[in-house]
Amino acid sequence: MPELPEVETIARGLARRVTRDVVESVWLGQKKEPLKSSASEIAATLEHSRIAAVRRMGKHIVFDLEKNHQVRARSSAGGRQGSGNAKAQWVVHLGMTGRLQVCEPQTEVEKHTHAIVRLSSGRELRFVDPRRFGRLSVAPAADFDAGGVEPLEVDLDPFIKLFRGRKTPIKSALLNQKLLRGVGNIYADESLFRAGIRPRRRATTITREQLEKLFYAIKEVLAEAIALGGSSISDYVDADGEEGFFQLQHRVYGREGEPCLICKTPIKRVVIVGRSSHYCPKCQK
Ligand SMILES: [Zn+2]
Repeated sequence: MPELPEVETIARGLARRVTRDVVESVWLGQKKEPLKSSASEIAATLEHSRIAAVRRMGKHIVFDLEKNHQVRARSSAGGRQGSGNAKAQWVVHLGMTGRLQVCEPQTEVEKHTHAIVRLSSGRELRFVDPRRFGRLSVAPAADFDAGGVEPLEVDLDPFIKLFRGRKTPIKSALLNQKLLRGVGNIYADESLFRAGIRPRRRATTITREQLEKLFYAIKEVLAEAIALGGSSISDYVDADGEEGFFQLQHRVYGREGEPCLICKTPIKRVVIVGRSSHYCPKCQK
């Protein structure tokens, strides 16, 4: 399952390839699950739109779209349309196995292709997803809200406030997408290790000093993973998609029973809200 750093890397790779291209037409498959907006709405929003930007919001990939001609306002509450450019967004969530492929039209269409977006450059942007947990939607008023705050952008004080009074384990608070968007299981474990906090600790009992460590640990872990991903993304977007995922050198995640890299104590694994959590019983309190 792609986590925040992978989605960030994929979004950057897509931005390099399709920014300023224009959508000529859209083909959508028959399977209903991948379509969170109706097929007709997705097609109407994308067709004849210019891709102004591609970026990550949480674990979503957001294509900012512009239509140069004034389109009929879809809702009176819109109000986001300025200088004759109607704005909208195409939002892709990759789910477990979703991929976005930029390719030439003669490239064989893979099994499990659910959307083909034909671009004026002659290339195609295809959404392929064997397990169909991925989702495609549109926000015609460009008001997509991914929920929570962006872990790479949030400041220290608002970050600390997120956990105030929360009796849940810190691990579940980190995975709660309504608080922080996009921090997944691996990066939560790795950040907690670097901050010296046990995953089961109740969020409300963690001192400000420890939360400050956690704040910097999350940013550091995510930034390192994004930096590692930069070199592999061309494979991911262009080719068969099996390649290109990179892994941060995990210090605790997936290392149950192996010695802690700092103190040699065997790493423990516990299950918290259905997710495996890994920690060092000596380094983490
Ligand atoms: Zn240790």
